[in-house]
Amino acid sequence: EESEVMENKGVKEKTMEDGVAAMAACYAGFDPAAYLQYNYTAPRADFTRRDSIVPWKLGCLHRAFTEGDISGGLLVDVGSGPTLYQVLSGCEIFERLVLTDFLEVNRRELKRWLQDQGKSSLDWTPYLQHVCKLEGRGALAWSEKASRLRAVVSDVLPIDVHRPQPLAPGALPSPGADCLVSCFCLESVSPDLDAFTRALGHIGGLLRPKGHLILIGALGESFYQGGPGVQIPVVPLDEAQVCSSLKQNGFTLMRLEVYVLPDDMRVGVDDVSGIFFVKARKE
Ligand code: SAM
Repeated sequence: EESEVMENKGVKEKTMEDGVAAMAACYAGFDPAAYLQYNYTAPRADFTRRDSIVPWKLGCLHRAFTEGDISGGLLVDVGSGPTLYQVLSGCEIFERLVLTDFLEVNRRELKRWLQDQGKSSLDWTPYLQHVCKLEGRGALAWSEKASRLRAVVSDVLPIDVHRPQPLAPGALPSPGADCLVSCFCLESVSPDLDAFTRALGHIGGLLRPKGHLILIGALGESFYQGGPGVQIPVVPLDEAQVCSSLKQNGFTLMRLEVYVLPDDMRVGVDDVSGIFFVKARKE
């Protein structure tokens, strides 16, 4: 009987491995410039509208990092992709910031901006300006924020959230990061809810005890376009599943906010119905 149980466990693990390998194959076609165009230009990034997706996300991040409870030396962003919006508030309060992604094309995109080589696929200026405005800073402060970001990012590292140790050994100091940010990563790289929950546990291992987790992600999404003709499957999540995965991995939920997509934000590049924002603390 025991061997049957072991065998079942083996089958389950094999299926999970196959699912993870299939996800990695989907990402072979990921196109950073197209992804930025789909998700990080108007209407999804319309800074004149408070109900546009990007201003909503930037508002949540601004609030999370100015409530006064998050501090420390090291912030790690998990699955950065080709984007920088998610660290524009956090970069002001951490001395060191580590960006990470699974794909070399995304790490290269980030490094191009960080090294100021002037060939970024997206102009981040309106993002920098918007966050400076949230911070109550003047019209010229955005270039100071750009310099600050370039100064605090120490590394852009490869990561795989499906490994128990997602980063290379020794990549982080021993107690772990003081804070983690991760946006639209876990649900869009996991074949199912079990894999999502397991991956959340893996990244939790990068965080020191009592450290904070800022998790943003898609609700009710089954696919997104990673480039022209590249459909990437996503685990459709609801709020209860997000809360349960956090609990199972020893996180205490501090805040959960939900954004429902207005009809004109449903532009055909995915079937997302909403977005969750979570602030949690590792026990
Ligand atoms: N964080 C960005 C954002 O907010 O737009 C990008 C999110 S994008 C939907 C998902 C990201 O997960 C991609 O950049 C992809 O390269 C990365 N990824 C794919 N497989 C991964 C894995 N096994 N571990 C970590 N990240 C992975």
